[in-house]
Amino acid sequence: MAWNVVIAGGGFGGLQTAHRLCRLLPPQSARITLVNETNFMLYTPLLPGAAAGTLEPRHVVVPLREQLSDRVDLRVGRVLGADPAERRVSVRTLHGDVNELRYDHLVVALGSVSRTLPVPGLAEHAIGLKSLPEAIQLRNRLLQSFEIAETIDDSTERASYLTYVFVGAGYAGLEGLAELQDFAADVIEHYPRCRVSGMRWVLVDAADRVMPEIKPQLAAFATRELRGRGIEIRTSTTLQEVTDTHALLSDGERIPTRCVVWTAGVRAHPVVAQLGLPLDDRGRIPTDKFLQVEGHHNVWAIGDAAAVPDPAKGRKEAAPPTAQHATREGKVVAQNVAAALGVGKPRPFRYRTLGVFVDMGRGKAVASTLGLRWRGTPAWWLARTYHLALMPGWGRRARLLFDWNVGLLFGRDTAELGQLGHPEGLPPAPAPPAAPTRAPSGRSTSP
Ligand SMILES: Cc1cc2nc3c(=O)[nH]c(=O)nc-3n(C[C@H](O)[C@H](O)[C@H](O)COP(=O)(O)OP(=O)(O)OC[C@H]3O[C@@H](n4cnc5c(N)ncnc54)[C@H](O)[C@@H]3O)c2cc1C
Repeated sequence: MAWNVVIAGGGFGGLQTAHRLCRLLPPQSARITLVNETNFMLYTPLLPGAAAGTLEPRHVVVPLREQLSDRVDLRVGRVLGADPAERRVSVRTLHGDVNELRYDHLVVALGSVSRTLPVPGLAEHAIGLKSLPEAIQLRNRLLQSFEIAETIDDSTERASYLTYVFVGAGYAGLEGLAELQDFAADVIEHYPRCRVSGMRWVLVDAADRVMPEIKPQLAAFATRELRGRGIEIRTSTTLQEVTDTHALLSDGERIPTRCVVWTAGVRAHPVVAQLGLPLDDRGRIPTDKFLQVEGHHNVWAIGDAAAVPDPAKGRKEAAPPTAQHATREGKVVAQNVAAALGVGKPRPFRYRTLGVFVDMGRGKAVASTLGLRWRGTPAWWLARTYHLALMPGWGRRARLLFDWNVGLLFGRDTAELGQLGHPEGLPPAPAPPAAPTRAPSGRSTSP
């Protein structure tokens, strides 16, 4: 009899789990099914590059069918919920049907969404930087703001189009801001009026320093680098309100702006609450050190959707939501599922962060690897080499290298393609010619 292993989510954690299970479990012993909303995995660390036009959007994703062995049954569809007692997951297929998938073991790897707060106007007016459509929307918004500003005579109103506020100074927010600002600094050269007015970039965070994920000395270097570019960094400050014309900060400043970007952390994907599993106060599924969900011997959780005890913090706190952790958890969970099916032995999750890279565009970055700290161009080169090595598949790596080198040699593409994917549709058919009216003489009046 073959066991059914279902992996919900094909991102960093889920893809790694599928790879490992294929290696560990003999083909006739298990059917492996991977369910993902799209037929690709998003390589999020390169999302700021896509937003900044350094990378083609299609080059920051990994097509799952290219990566998965034929043994894995990829189901592109949306997980709607699960019933652990019945061992079933319900999935809405692209066709619109709802299928019930039976499992003997379920691995939940459904990732996260932006963590929003009840700030008035946030949902209506701010943009996130968590998905590919958001990255492209951000790039288009930036280019559009230049186009609009260039046509405005009133200098105060023009300035509001050239002011960009980022909220959340973790590495994702900081990388996003740095790459976008770098892009904008190149692009503004094509806009004579905007060039004279100049831009304003503001980074806001409630914490007292940027990037709590990395060592204070490196964070201080990143802060100096950004301030050197004229970026205002407002720590110990929160966003109070957003409208279509301004952002109100907790220090009382009302910043006229048309672009607020929200990068203040993540929370588990909301569908996780529909799986009939225990949740912690942040909506994540708590696991033990073997990544098994409490009280469910055949359900496992990894990545941003799980609260995995962090070995680096004495297993007293949850591991941070990073791709590095999700990937390693994927490897461990595969081994433990295989062990539960009688192949090999289980092992606890032991990974501790080996390094952090923060690419800030313009050949600048900060990095910390194996106790060594890197800054400036060497760190930037390291960051790119690291992502190149981790991007699955030689074809995908070649595309990255090509984009980066073309960008370095010829600058970045400034076309705003906001209409892509939203065609106006075919024009209506022309009305049929009117029937000729007869003149009293009986001759037609039409030519
Ligand atoms: C801008 C940005 C930059 C980042 N940079 C870094 C970095 O440099 N280094 C680093 O280590 N981490 C980085 N991260 C964090 C990293 O992206 C996450 O920690 C990682 O993706 C978590 O992996 P995961 O497998 O849990 O989730 P994901 O990789 O997000 O995978 C979840 C998968 O589940 C699918 N899914 C979701 N809901 C459903 C559903 N209902 N049905 C079916 N499928 C579904 C999604 O389509 C997705 O493919 C960054 C994040 C962002 C946003």
